[in-house]
Amino acid sequence: MKHGEPWPGIIGKYGQYLPVTKEMPVVTLLEGNTPLVCAQRLARQVGLRAELFIKNDALNPTGSFKDRGMTLMVSKALEEHAIGVICPSLGNASASAAAYAARAGLKCFALAPEEVVITGQMAQTQVHGAHVFAIRGSYDDCTAIAQEIAADDRLVLVNSLNPYAMHGQKTAAFEICDQLGQPPTYVALPVGDGGNITALWQGFKEYAKNRLPRMLGFQGTGAAPLIDGQPIAKPQTLATAIRIGRPSNWQGALDAVEESGGLMEKVTDDEIVAAYQLVAGLEGIFLDPSGASALAGLVKLSRQGFFKPGENVGLLATGHGLKDGYRAAIAQPSTVVYVENAKEVRRALKNLR
Ligand SMILES: *Cc1c(COP(=O)(O)O)cnc(C)c1O
Repeated sequence: MKHGEPWPGIIGKYGQYLPVTKEMPVVTLLEGNTPLVCAQRLARQVGLRAELFIKNDALNPTGSFKDRGMTLMVSKALEEHAIGVICPSLGNASASAAAYAARAGLKCFALAPEEVVITGQMAQTQVHGAHVFAIRGSYDDCTAIAQEIAADDRLVLVNSLNPYAMHGQKTAAFEICDQLGQPPTYVALPVGDGGNITALWQGFKEYAKNRLPRMLGFQGTGAAPLIDGQPIAKPQTLATAIRIGRPSNWQGALDAVEESGGLMEKVTDDEIVAAYQLVAGLEGIFLDPSGASALAGLVKLSRQGFFKPGENVGLLATGHGLKDGYRAAIAQPSTVVYVENAKEVRRALKNLR
């Protein structure tokens, strides 16, 4: 890609670092190239002594970082003459799978726990024409079923067990290096299936040989198998995208943290909601609760005096707040004033100033 040329998507930009051939048809929605925003007001408000940058991967085409892996997985599926893709999901992965499959002319089958379907979180997936199965079971059951079906039929499993997911997702690390000039001291992100933290760590190791960041991973208090050290049968957290009791990339996630000298920490629902409101109100960035959970973790560490002046932190904002819009309304009821005319508005304004 030459200077001044339009962004070609992550395969076009970083193809030399990815397992691609010239013959592979590229299925892209021009994902990647997401903004890295300096979050000064937020850092000051929470007393963070390090500089804070938000890598806003919520601004990928379907609203989450999953698009980085999906462009490569669906391109490969097409190259391998698959008839379709199959995706166990809590909403974001299947939304991405459905969109890229639509563009490729492939069928898409999505499997989600019943409660995820009931609460409308598969709507985006359905709009793109995917076939949705509501599974009476957990996300882990969805994964097991999808693996079994993919083995028998000409369907490609597109989740973090597909090795191409990691290759695509590691490009977020490349972009952070390109945007900052070098990796930050710390990289913070939410951890569900463990795929993304594994991918980013791999990406930094490949791309930034001299200086590597420490990886900080965050899980919800009731869904923290990697911290508790054992699988959880009924994981609970407000952050639905990381409500996973038996992560597929268990060891990869632990290795990323250990090799980099980072850590993993739990965050409560209340801490997640507080962080979600802070970043929206102070920086104009609307994250989903999973994206906000990593910020909640940073706030917690910051209060413990973890960060030092001169350091910097890259926070990976994984998913868009519009995915889960009703939570915003629940979290912010006090911002609505009911009025009938300009006079009433004017009176209300006086009280609000
Ligand atoms: C998928 C997802 C995660 C978790 O990533 P893993 O690779 O499963 O650890 C976090 N946040 C959002 C918004 C996601 O869609």
